[in-house]
Amino acid sequence: RAFNFSAGPAAIPTEVLERAQEELLNWQGYGCSVMELGHRTPDFKEILHNAEKNLRKLLNIPSNYKVLFMHGSASHQFSMVPMNFLRPDEKANYLELDHWSKMCIAEAKRFANVHVEQGIRKNKDGLLELIPEDEWELDDEGKYLHFTSNETIVGIQFEKDPSRFAGKLVSDMCSDILSRPIDIEKYALIYAGAQKNIGPSGMTVVIVREDLFDTFHTERVPKLFQYPHVSAKDSMPNTPPSFGIYFAGLVFEWLLQQGGVEEMHKLNLKKANMLYDYVDQSSFYHSPVAKGSRSFMNVSIQLADKSLEQKFLEGAQRRHLIALKGHRSFGGLRASIYNAMSVKGVNTLIDYMKDFEKHL
Ligand code: PLP
Repeated sequence: RAFNFSAGPAAIPTEVLERAQEELLNWQGYGCSVMELGHRTPDFKEILHNAEKNLRKLLNIPSNYKVLFMHGSASHQFSMVPMNFLRPDEKANYLELDHWSKMCIAEAKRFANVHVEQGIRKNKDGLLELIPEDEWELDDEGKYLHFTSNETIVGIQFEKDPSRFAGKLVSDMCSDILSRPIDIEKYALIYAGAQKNIGPSGMTVVIVREDLFDTFHTERVPKLFQYPHVSAKDSMPNTPPSFGIYFAGLVFEWLLQQGGVEEMHKLNLKKANMLYDYVDQSSFYHSPVAKGSRSFMNVSIQLADKSLEQKFLEGAQRRHLIALKGHRSFGGLRASIYNAMSVKGVNTLIDYMKDFEKHL
């Protein structure tokens, strides 16, 4: 298999794919695929409950938080959050970083008042950086503060949680969930689409504080989009994304075998530092993001001579290093090094970068 640096859908650990392959036709001797298993059967319920139990263990999720496995994408959550939390006359704070938070803000504005706070800027060297929290002017009347913990496209990530709005933070953690420990109690709600660190696309995990359900305004919200309803039905108000849930369960087991998110975090920092250290000492490559704001999941890299990009990508492909092209809105190169990317994969990329520079 190639080393896959795709931002999403992203690489999945080979061992997990192999296990899914082994079980594909005949799940645990049952005589059919897990895809063909009725979702109301005790067997499927066990799959669902085990997935939830292991996710709780991995992220240390307190019992007053509900875990929901929902249909659809993170973008659905852009609307679901304001639909559930806010009446049209209520307010929320949104931190604007780049593409994903802009999409999210546009949705929220359709439902309520949104105070948008700029969270990103260029520093004096022209590098992108997060604006420090003490410069934010948030609206204290906001019911929550929404932020994207890792902005996948440009490769910017929060090193620590915002301290204001503790307990009332809402976060899009699509591209860094399960890559590091999280202090869940600072959050009202966390959501993440599956296709980076959890499994195949089409399923989204939501972690939400249960007592907030009483404060939600769901009268006009479609039933399937009401968090309290999905929770009351144990993530199964209708046929759930059953294969996605099963697959997520396999990934959660794999993560526990690797030592959990604490170990993954150490490994992820190691991989990212290897790559940034190499880029920083080079004059051929550089990072468009300032130190202190850099993502350890999505490493943006630019070539001093942009005209060499295509040649770089073609050479990388020949060495089985795939999906290194940056997002169309940002350009450059991007190495997404989620949990499934090995240290060996990052070393192979660095070796190729050295060779490319030498043998031009
Ligand atoms: N938020 C972030 C941070 C993302 O990286 C992405 C997708 O890459 C999304 C939201 C949107 O996800 P989806 O395509 O599942 O709606």
